[in-house]
Amino acid sequence: MITNCCNSDCSAPFDFRQGRIVRICKALPSECNSNMEHPIEHFWLCGKCSEIYVFEYESRLNLKLKSANEAASQKKTPEFASAA
Ligand SMILES: [Zn+2]
Repeated sequence: MITNCCNSDCSAPFDFRQGRIVRICKALPSECNSNMEHPIEHFWLCGKCSEIYVFEYESRLNLKLKSANEAASQKKTPEFASAA
């Protein structure tokens, strides 16, 4: 069960009214479709952290936090790059 914000620097107590919850199935997609019990983990970012961070899937076993600014800046090419 979720108890705290998954940002270890924050650790705000869980509040379902704010923030963002992600559900991660740690099994392969094919395994997820079976009736077998499969490990599902829930992660929660508090309202404050969900504005600052986005979840980044490193692999199906790892979940990483990434700053939203960093994620946004990687999507667009820097304007100064074409100035040369
Ligand atoms: Zn937080």
